[in-house]
Order: sequence, then C-alpha cells, then structure tokens
Amino acid sequence: MSKITIAIDGYSSCGKSTLAKALAAHLGYAYLDSGSMYRCVTLYALRKGLIKDGSFIKEEIIKILPEINLRFEFNPHTKASDTFLNEENVEKEIRMMNVSDNVSKISTIHEVRVKMVALQRELGKNKGIVSDGRDIGSKVFPDAELKIFMTADTDIRTQRRYDELSSKGQHVSYNEIKANLLSRDYDDTHRKENPLVQAKDAIVLDNSDLTREQQLEFILRLIKDLTLPVQ
Ligand code: C5P
Repeated sequence: MSKITIAIDGYSSCGKSTLAKALAAHLGYAYLDSGSMYRCVTLYALRKGLIKDGSFIKEEIIKILPEINLRFEFNPHTKASDTFLNEENVEKEIRMMNVSDNVSKISTIHEVRVKMVALQRELGKNKGIVSDGRDIGSKVFPDAELKIFMTADTDIRTQRRYDELSSKGQHVSYNEIKANLLSRDYDDTHRKENPLVQAKDAIVLDNSDLTREQQLEFILRLIKDLTLPVQ
C-alpha cells in the first residue's frame, strides 16, 4: 500500500493549515506548512534590519540566506509542529502582523523560493505528506496524487483570522486584517515566479459555508475515490 502526497493551495486565511493538519493527523501523515518557512525568512530579515517601511534590501537578504536553518518539531501539547529558526522556536512570532505584512514581498525573491522549494521537496520525498501553501500543487509537488485549491469569501476569511488572532491575545483591527489578506492575495497571485494559481488538476474547495468536519469528509471522500490504495 503506497502513501500519497496531498497538496493544498489557496488564498490567505482560507483554513488551509487547519484542514491540512486535521488530514495529516487522520491519515498518520506528516504535515508541512510551507508558509511558515517564508515567514521565518521574513522574521530573520526583519531582525537583521533588512526590511524597513515595506521595502527591503534584496541583495542583503540573499546574502543572509545561508545563515538560515529551519526545522519542524512535533509539539505534544498543541499536537502540531512548531517551527524552529536556527534552533529557536519561532512558532508564535512568525504569525505576528509585522511578519504577515512583509512576507509576500520577501517570498517574491527568486533565491528565497529556490531554497524553500528545495527544502520542501526534501521533506516530502518519501510521500505520506500533506503540505499547504501557494505553489505546492503547481510547482513543489506537481506529481501530487491529490491537489486541492481552497477559497472562501473574503469577509468570512477576515473574521476567522480576527478570531484566531484575538484568541492568541493579538488585537488587530478587522479592517487591518482584511487589508493584509487582500494585499497578500494580490501579491501572491501577481508575482512572476510561482504565483498562486489553481493547478489544472486541482479540485476546488470553497469552504465559506462548511464546517471543519465537512471539509475533512470532503477530502476523505476524494481520497477514497483515488484509484491508488492509500495507507
Ligand atoms: O500560508 P501563510 O499565510 O502562512 O503564508 C505566508 C506567505 O508566504 C504567503 O502570503 C505567501 O506570500 C508566501 N508563501 C508562498 N509560497 C508558499 C507558501 C507561502 O509564497 N508555498
């Protein structure tokens, strides 16, 4: 029985990671959050003072890339992976607004993408993985057996993000969150290299009116329909 690769792409704050984590737990697969990797590079560049007022020094960011080591470690309390940047647990910090505000710009840098895609492919080389991001089905794992393209109404996405940040004690206004989502969607769909696109063989999942359980059921049904036996 062979394990498969599941690629979940889509707009910001659609609930991709929530679904991917639930799916990975259900199948006993690894979960790879590709967005957290771009967030780590952004955090490192912010700390080095290479991003200021929305602009960044591309050549300097390229220079510091070899200093960046990323790894994931399962956290038994949250039952999810924590992201480590040079052995520091940055899981919380990479979700802060200053990172969200800059990550889509940093992820346009060719050298950043080359490094992240290579690492993602290495982590997924044995299959049995659920990964979410923007270019997973189109670029990172084009041979993934199951590709999902997620979307949801913008106001619903904003409210979900607002609730998530509030529950973590981060008080950001609804309008600021909505503006961030729209600007990231714009940047992610308009960049030259590996923009967010729906892969030809991806199945669309609009989860505006679906519960988490319904989304999981939807995917599990698709897996059942695959001709490959799934472990
Ligand atoms: O998924 P998340 O919202 O954490 O991703 C943060 C940002 O990282 C995205 O807005 C996008 O700019 C970038 N990203 C990317 N390619 C991916 C995953 C994320 O460019 N595969």
